[in-house]
Amino acid sequence: MARIVLIAEQRNGKLSEATLELCKAAKEIASMVGATPAAAVFYKDDSIAKEVAQYIPEVFSVVDAKLESFSADLYAQAVKAVVESQDVKGVLIPHSYDGVDYAAKAALAIGAGIVSNCNKVAFEGGALVFTRNTYNGKIQEQKSVKTDKFVATFEKGAFDKEAAGAAGSVTAVSASLGDSKRKIKEVIATMAGSVDISQAKIIVSGGRGTKEKDKYNDIIVSLAKKLGGEYAASRPVVDAGWTDAARQVGQSGKTVAPALYLAAGISGAIQHVAGMKGSQCIVAINKDPEAPIFNIATYGIVGDLFEVIPAIMEALG
Ligand SMILES: Cc1cc2nc3c(=O)[nH]c(=O)nc-3n(C[C@H](O)[C@H](O)[C@H](O)COP(=O)(O)OP(=O)(O)OC[C@H]3O[C@@H](n4cnc5c(N)ncnc54)[C@H](O)[C@@H]3O)c2cc1C
Repeated sequence: MARIVLIAEQRNGKLSEATLELCKAAKEIASMVGATPAAAVFYKDDSIAKEVAQYIPEVFSVVDAKLESFSADLYAQAVKAVVESQDVKGVLIPHSYDGVDYAAKAALAIGAGIVSNCNKVAFEGGALVFTRNTYNGKIQEQKSVKTDKFVATFEKGAFDKEAAGAAGSVTAVSASLGDSKRKIKEVIATMAGSVDISQAKIIVSGGRGTKEKDKYNDIIVSLAKKLGGEYAASRPVVDAGWTDAARQVGQSGKTVAPALYLAAGISGAIQHVAGMKGSQCIVAINKDPEAPIFNIATYGIVGDLFEVIPAIMEALG
């Protein structure tokens, strides 16, 4: 039977959350097209393949010392090896920095059409129809591929994370990987030791409406701590130095998809929304009833954040 294969993503041996979301995606898409879901893991050993097998019934493992750190060339070659060894209909890749780096190469290597940056998929008229963002989320377009095989990259938050279940099988796939055209000399963590807000379940985010650094700290940081979440910001807040760049949400910041995203004093510019629209519940506090953030908010509070947030804090006790 044909397979829908997701490509797992890891950094320093740690599996990304996007991988668990794609486990769910592979299962949903496989059931739409009458295929079976599977994953492929490329790493220096099969430890991550075994981990991924808790979430999906079948895992193909390409093991090579060269795969310890990410390389777009080698990942594309490994995708080709898996597709040539199995009956694969579709390949799912996280729409992450790494995923975007090799998805098109992989599609070229296996002769597949590609749809990138997808946030939804449906089965209509006998074909998979992918919905994707263009113009930073201002326009949604729908695309299908005409080729037998497809590659699709999915935004973080497009699917829920799959829960662990009974362990699936791990099958070794041999791949004679060539040399990468790029050589990684050193990996420099630009924000070493800083927070990764993309993993947070609750985010309280403040915008220019918070007025100044001390008020941002008093209001946004305090509420985030009280809720047991992380604090974040729009770009003007970061540019002004009220908080550090690791906490910026949006097109030129992080993409987040928490269970709760509380946006206070944020207008909802498309560059900001591009980074948080996948949140499960969006609560917006803005004194301007016409603020665009209300177009995507689950709950909207028209009011002064300096009155609303202290009232929330008081109610929380
Ligand atoms: C290439 C590019 C990349 C960009 N990348 C990003 C990005 O990654 N992230 C990002 O955020 N932006 C990004 N921007 C900037 C973006 O276009 C907006 O300028 C920015 O998001 C606006 O931030 P803001 O909502 O905090 O400020 P504003 O747009 O100034 O909005 C402030 C809001 O606060 C409200 N307000 C004021 N006082 C109060 C109060 N007391 N109570 C309640 N509400 C109040 C106002 O009504 C207003 O809606 C980018 C822009 C470009 C061109």
